[in-house]
Amino acid sequence: MSKRTAGIHHITAIVGNPQENVDFYAGVLGLRLVKKTVNFDDPGTYHLYFGNEAGSPGTIMTFFPWPNAYQGKIGSGQVGVTSFAVPVGTLSFWEERLAKFNVSFEKLTRFGEETLQFDDPHGLHLELVERKEGTASSWSFGGIPADKAIKGFGGAVLLTLKPESTMKLLTEGMGLVEIGSEGDFTRFKASDDLGNVIDVKLTPVPSGSMGAGIVHHIAWRAADYEDHEVWREHIANLGYGVTPVKDRQYFNAVYFRERGGILFEIATDPPGFTRDETAEEMGRSLLLPPWLEEKRALIEANLLGAEVRILEEDQS
Ligand code: ZN
Repeated sequence: MSKRTAGIHHITAIVGNPQENVDFYAGVLGLRLVKKTVNFDDPGTYHLYFGNEAGSPGTIMTFFPWPNAYQGKIGSGQVGVTSFAVPVGTLSFWEERLAKFNVSFEKLTRFGEETLQFDDPHGLHLELVERKEGTASSWSFGGIPADKAIKGFGGAVLLTLKPESTMKLLTEGMGLVEIGSEGDFTRFKASDDLGNVIDVKLTPVPSGSMGAGIVHHIAWRAADYEDHEVWREHIANLGYGVTPVKDRQYFNAVYFRERGGILFEIATDPPGFTRDETAEEMGRSLLLPPWLEEKRALIEANLLGAEVRILEEDQS
């Protein structure tokens, strides 16, 4: 049996203060906060989802903000860099925008593409890359018109303890296609046109550790619930220990750790973020799954603020 994922479904990271997180991803980068909920396994903390206007698979960056978390260490067994795709011809706009918000960045080239690399306030490594493929976002916010907005993920750089095993899984297990190698990276592509470009670093770096400022896991797309069951069996047949199916309210999920140490998830495209609020309302209020609704008062009392707001730099 062979399987092909369309690409990245979402990437989930651990960060610090939730308002700082919202201010950066919504306020500076202009992503839409598409869902404000809690970590279902730890309802004392938020789970914040950002994406394009619809929160489409391939655009969803999610966060567990832990205000008192120790700083994690980026290293092998993690996603090292999360890449966002912007429209062609907009990198200079983004350069000016990052400068305006005092975000220091570096210009680097990988596989012939110029990228802007920078860190979020909690230390996550991010980059922006121009891509012509991928549907434009229709979301505009603050100083970012829709025609310059981030479309979704360009892809990710994987840091693995066992590059050969990880690359074998990507091609033979996940159905990505190897595109080529340059310097210390081999590039792979999945079939969708967002969240589809995966670079594997060929020289392992020291192991990372969990904490704020690191990616927790990367999730890959399954088309529907039936396809998800087939994926689960497929991954188990490849010899990985894979979890039972978990209902994450906006998708179903299974998790497994690949041999290079990175936590992988397979997530279903349906039902998406309009499951419990309308497309227009998404992200404005705290949404809880039915089994946590009775604890709402207690949960709300323990959460810090996380409001989308136009930042001062965009008000003048
Ligand atoms: Zn996930």
